[in-house]
Amino acid sequence: KDTPVTGPKRVLLAAPRGYCAGVDRAVVAVEKALDHYGAPVYVRKQIVHNIHVVRELEKKGAIFVDEVDEVPAGSHIVFSAHGVSPAVVNAAAERGLRAIDATCPLVTKVHREAVRFASKDLQILLIGHEGHEEVEGTAGEAPEHTTLVGSPEEADTVVVRDPDKVVWLSQTTLSVDETMETVRRLRARFPNLQDPPSDDICYATQNRQVAIRKVAEDADLVIVVGSANSSNTMRLVDVALEYGAKAAYRVDYSSEIKQEWLDGVSTVGVTSGASVPEELVQEVLEDLAGAGYGTVQQVKTAEEDLMFSLPKELRTDSSGAQ
Ligand code: SF4
Repeated sequence: KDTPVTGPKRVLLAAPRGYCAGVDRAVVAVEKALDHYGAPVYVRKQIVHNIHVVRELEKKGAIFVDEVDEVPAGSHIVFSAHGVSPAVVNAAAERGLRAIDATCPLVTKVHREAVRFASKDLQILLIGHEGHEEVEGTAGEAPEHTTLVGSPEEADTVVVRDPDKVVWLSQTTLSVDETMETVRRLRARFPNLQDPPSDDICYATQNRQVAIRKVAEDADLVIVVGSANSSNTMRLVDVALEYGAKAAYRVDYSSEIKQEWLDGVSTVGVTSGASVPEELVQEVLEDLAGAGYGTVQQVKTAEEDLMFSLPKELRTDSSGAQ
């Protein structure tokens, strides 16, 4: 039997949400590469972690591969927003591939930090998720100097060579709270732990978490639009639950929303990960309106106007001759 809805039905729409500057740049880079060079253009890994974006680019002629050895010699290959290790860059060059590097500049910043700290012979405690492409790329800059710390619990057990020569870095798309907890536990064990010069968790990840915290305080249910392999999307689900949402679910498409999620729900919070096109959020809002949640209030916690210029390979080759 349906639980009655106690308050007026409404949607709280988080802002900022959706595309960040790094995702926008990476998607446009593939589109421009297709325009300039014609299909097919190869892309190593998913350009951004969103299934809809990948499918749309495939329709336009992008071919997604796991590794550069799947790509015919001489072809163009785009490296994804998550970044690549020097080993991948070298493998592409050896194969005669023409690379377009769509690594987000904020990921590149972390790569540079890794190189600099390794050159000072510091052990880098890289906070991040094992197997995530960004972590593989960053660790690949200084594999001998990098140790992955996957959770606050792992901070209690990680083994270091010299506790006076350690520094932490992180993946850009983690939970801010959980990362600070990991750092706190590391510092409790290694008081001389050094900090990176600035936050590694990027502005977009932070802003989306701040917005969903505020929404979650008043929401019975939070719907996060995004793909399961998107780290920042999954963290939005975690943060929503931590900050008071009674339930939180992730969907790729509006059609995945289950009727029973809305049972007894008065306020629905909605947000989307940094790799999610706004049209997918609008479809969710349309379906919610159809279910009686037609009142939409925006909860805005920050303005964003950052934009990155295109990868240099596309700027210098804008005539598109080849
Ligand atoms: Fe760059 Fe952050 Fe967007 Fe990742 S989530 S592409 S690091 S801006």
